[in-house]
Amino acid sequence: MKPTISIVVPVYNEEEVLRELYTRIRQVMDPQDEPWELVLVNDGSIDCSAEVMRELYDQDPRVKGLSFSRNFGFQEAVTAGLFHALGDAVVLTDADLQDPPELIPKMIAKWREGYDVVYGVRTEREGETWFKKITAKVFYRAIHRITSVNIPLDTGDFRLMDRRVVKAILRMPERNRFLRGMVPWVGYKQIGIPYERQARFAGESKFKSMRQMLPFALDAITSFSYFPLQVSTYLGFISAAISLIAILVVILLRLFGQRQELTGQATTLVAVLFLGGVQLISLGIIGEYLGRIYDEVKGRPLYLVDEKWGFDEDEE
Ligand code: UDP
Ligand code: MG
Repeated sequence: MKPTISIVVPVYNEEEVLRELYTRIRQVMDPQDEPWELVLVNDGSIDCSAEVMRELYDQDPRVKGLSFSRNFGFQEAVTAGLFHALGDAVVLTDADLQDPPELIPKMIAKWREGYDVVYGVRTEREGETWFKKITAKVFYRAIHRITSVNIPLDTGDFRLMDRRVVKAILRMPERNRFLRGMVPWVGYKQIGIPYERQARFAGESKFKSMRQMLPFALDAITSFSYFPLQVSTYLGFISAAISLIAILVVILLRLFGQRQELTGQATTLVAVLFLGGVQLISLGIIGEYLGRIYDEVKGRPLYLVDEKWGFDEDEE
């Protein structure tokens, strides 16, 4: 039977949480009286996640799965999940149970009321480091300010999407994907419901250091904003203005001041370093966009599937 609700979960080294995830999802979905499926996307895990996924599928064929040929990343895993999900509504959630499955029935109720996207808004985050909390807070506010799309604050990927939203997302071929922006971009009727983000059930976060979070933030900004490019322009204007003032000051000093006032190499050095810095920053910013254009032009597939189970062959 075709499922009404699909739950898509990206999985990267989550062997300790998968069984619990399945149990909790069953507990909330079985009383719902709607056919459902759980689509697990193994993003090249190097632990036993794939084996556990198989085991769950053998127990319950509603737990479908696919494995990537290597680790492609969160956004790619979610995209593959959306592509393979069959439901009229698709719920996205993390494997680690930080997003409580108990919220899914509420999302479904809102969807039944006619909303196309129901997203979870994090009011509280438990069991996360202060570093993660602060960077997340700053990130959501910055991205909200500088993007043209209205990206809701403190909203992760935990959300329900109607089939037509999923279709729209799948029509976006971009390589550097930022789903938290792509979904609001689609439009239709969207609504948020508040929830408390729990601590991880087991295992550890894959996005906790600056090195792990920065590429995500850069993708977010470059995919939805030209602001950094405009910053280069502003910097150009500012340094041009400064130099104009400096020229005037130099002329005045020359005419009315004493001769020694502008001697030495320091002034030249400062000016050269300042301009060099501004130019390098601008180049770097252009480079960020250029690299992404290059990714698009190459047109490589987003991900490669190694194996899948539970899907009909003629689905694609
Ligand atoms: N994940 C993934 N590929 C990756 C990194 C993470 O599929 O390269 C999955 C991971 O298994 C989890 C979800 O993305 O289901 C969110 O990751 P995590 O909980 O580590 O991030 P956090 O909640 O700490 O931001
Ligand atoms: Mg998590």
